[in-house]
Amino acid sequence: MHTADILVIGGGIAGLSAAAALSEHARVAVLEAEEQVGYHSSGRSATMVHYALGDRLVRALTLASRPFFGSPPEGFSDAPVGRRMPVLVHAREDERAALDALEAEITAFAEIERLDASDVHELCPLLKDDAVHGLADRNGTRLDPHALLQGNLRRLREHGGTLHAGQRATQLERANGTWNVTTDKGERFSAPLIVNAAGSWADRVAQLAGVQPMGLRPLRRTIITFDAPPGTDLERLPFTKTVGDALYFAPESGRLFASPMDEVPSEPTDAQPDEYEVALAAYRMEERTIVKVERVHSRWAGLRTFTPDRHPAVGFAPDADGFFWLAGQGGFGLQTSPAMAAIAASLIGDTPWPFADVPREALLPDRFAGQPAEVDPALGD
Ligand SMILES: Cc1cc2nc3c(=O)[nH]c(=O)nc-3n(C[C@H](O)[C@H](O)[C@H](O)COP(=O)(O)OP(=O)(O)OC[C@H]3O[C@@H](n4cnc5c(N)ncnc54)[C@H](O)[C@@H]3O)c2cc1C
Repeated sequence: MHTADILVIGGGIAGLSAAAALSEHARVAVLEAEEQVGYHSSGRSATMVHYALGDRLVRALTLASRPFFGSPPEGFSDAPVGRRMPVLVHAREDERAALDALEAEITAFAEIERLDASDVHELCPLLKDDAVHGLADRNGTRLDPHALLQGNLRRLREHGGTLHAGQRATQLERANGTWNVTTDKGERFSAPLIVNAAGSWADRVAQLAGVQPMGLRPLRRTIITFDAPPGTDLERLPFTKTVGDALYFAPESGRLFASPMDEVPSEPTDAQPDEYEVALAAYRMEERTIVKVERVHSRWAGLRTFTPDRHPAVGFAPDADGFFWLAGQGGFGLQTSPAMAAIAASLIGDTPWPFADVPREALLPDRFAGQPAEVDPALGD
């Protein structure tokens, strides 16, 4: 039997960043079902930090996370966890109103430049001529998820915390103020507090514990990689996104990657790309840019898991002692992970709320007590 003060279920970015923060004051053990950390969503993302994602709350969490990426805490190696990559959001004439609205929303969070057609094409020469308006955040950050995951893991271990990989929690029982967890390998763990950071499986873990699920919705998203046209200066290309949720692309290991920003409902699973979305990515790339996708070099898919209101959930379950939710990070889980981890540590440690600009009530899981809210499709990202 392994004992700890806190047992974190899930070794993605949510679980590891919270575990690292919590390990400063508690004995923390992380259970990860797969043999390697970050195997699911955290290892399959587009890895950007940007403000054209989510809504005001997500932007506030992102802003609160930025200092961490610029100077990670002690325990991380000296290697940076991200590098500068400009972000360009572009629009056709008929999309101008949407760009205006986005500009009004995000200027509070970043230094945003309004671009005309010639500026747009200077920043991203691959766009077709109909991209005539743009917003640029020249200080966007492309994260290195490996550095982020390993840095958090190193910090956890330096504080005496442990990772137990290849251990899927399959039974959770509460007795005498302690959670007893049994894994698929038959190993047993116990702790008074469980942090449910199981990503797409977080509702399943809640059900195992007899806790009311939250109504999480895993949505599949697809990415393809392919060659850029000869002569493309990949070093200078921005992360480039349509103002609506149609397409984004960016340089990726000497090629380009693109996503049609699909949101296909899925079970929690090892997500695989579907031919339709692969073809859609190539189609939209050719529709909006001068690039010909002659051959898809590689493809992958991952799940972005949302709560019913598309805001993440962090806090104690209202219906079970010692059960703490850290779920619903949707399409912004990397870029908000430092703030979410700090919030988890403050709620568990009962210390003052760390971010004045992030509204506490909007994040607590008890907002779903009783009946889950309806999904608001207008809050897309
Ligand atoms: C295509 C795509 C693009 C994205 N782009 C961005 C982006 O640009 N910026 C950004 O910030 N975010 C982005 N995201 C979102 C981001 O990847 C997720 O929000 C984040 O990775 C979620 O982290 P997580 O730790 O909650 O989930 P995961 O990484 O999935 O981790 C959950 C872990 O829990 C484990 N687990 C589940 N059940 C159990 C159990 N019973 N016992 C033990 N372990 C268990 C799983 O094996 C898994 O490893 C993107 C996602 C996708 C798919």
